[in-house]
Amino acid sequence: MTAVAPLLSIVAPCHNEEANIAVLCARASAAARAEVGEDFEIILVNDGSTDRTWRAIKDANASDKHVRGLNLSRNYGHQLALTAGLSAARGARILMLDADLQDPPELLGEMMRAIDEGADVAFGQRRRRAGETLFKRMSADLFYRGVSALSDFALPRNAGDFRLITRRVLEDFLAMPERHRFVRGMIAWVGYRQVAVPYDRDARHAGQTKYTLGKMVRFATDAITSFSTAPLRVAGMMSLFAFFVAALAIVYVLWSVIAGSTAPGWASVLTAVSFFSGAQLLSTAIIGEYLGRLYIESKGRPLFLVADTTDENVASASRLDWDKIRNALIAPPAARRAAGSD
Ligand code: UDP
Ligand code: MG
Repeated sequence: MTAVAPLLSIVAPCHNEEANIAVLCARASAAARAEVGEDFEIILVNDGSTDRTWRAIKDANASDKHVRGLNLSRNYGHQLALTAGLSAARGARILMLDADLQDPPELLGEMMRAIDEGADVAFGQRRRRAGETLFKRMSADLFYRGVSALSDFALPRNAGDFRLITRRVLEDFLAMPERHRFVRGMIAWVGYRQVAVPYDRDARHAGQTKYTLGKMVRFATDAITSFSTAPLRVAGMMSLFAFFVAALAIVYVLWSVIAGSTAPGWASVLTAVSFFSGAQLLSTAIIGEYLGRLYIESKGRPLFLVADTTDENVASASRLDWDKIRNALIAPPAARRAAGSD
């Protein structure tokens, strides 16, 4: 066991961020020091980078023992890398931010104040997004609207994963076993008091965005299917509509027979067949998407594997501890709170 848990953990997932690590550590340390003195740790997760990011993390660890590194066995994606870092965090409060310095660590002070005043989550809300394309801003806007409309709880608009949370929110988050992790949604779902801290989002310090169009689509699909079964209802609604069209078609067919018109009818048949097969295929695809997710989840594989760490203390729970989860669920909230938060 380590001596005393640090007051503050700062967690950043890093994928090909070699040019950002040193600046990130410097700015994050300065911000942390201003708030909690020496009582902090910075956890950097190398998510299968193909550049020298892990080297940079090890260098940062060598020159500053506040920095601790986790090296994942391959690229698991932003949300799982973040989860890996969170599972290693020992702090009473945990700040998560991107490694590219789009989220200014200097906002920590304001976030700490919000938590001092009784909030459990202080999330950064973007007022302005510098250095991002019109397409990125428009797709992001559509995304927040879409997810909020489809899911059963409010997802804060224009908020990424930049947030300071208390220990109990972290424990609640880690107790959720799913692998398609939409971190900001899961944390919003937890509840308690969550407050927005507005800020201007900077451009990347160095390097390029790791979110390609394909990754953004996957991210949006994760977000929607994690919190909503609305697409399944769309499949249901479509079949109702198809039924309605089919009923009209039958009336038309009967009328044609009675009127004795011997129209060849291929157009209506073709229309009906293509409409129904389209509707069926789409419904099947939507159901298949959920079924596939159910299948993947049912395997219960570890969420990620850690290849190396900078020191032995960086233990991280990739395989979720079911006994702990069960106990957390059975234990009365008061006991959890006493064990968890500051
Ligand atoms: N990231 C990661 N694994 C990935 C992709 C991204 O750990 O597979 C990290 C990345 O290093 C950064 C954060 O996730 O710290 C956000 O990624 P990025 O800045 O590329 O996204 P954007 O800000 O453009 O949405
Ligand atoms: Mg970024």
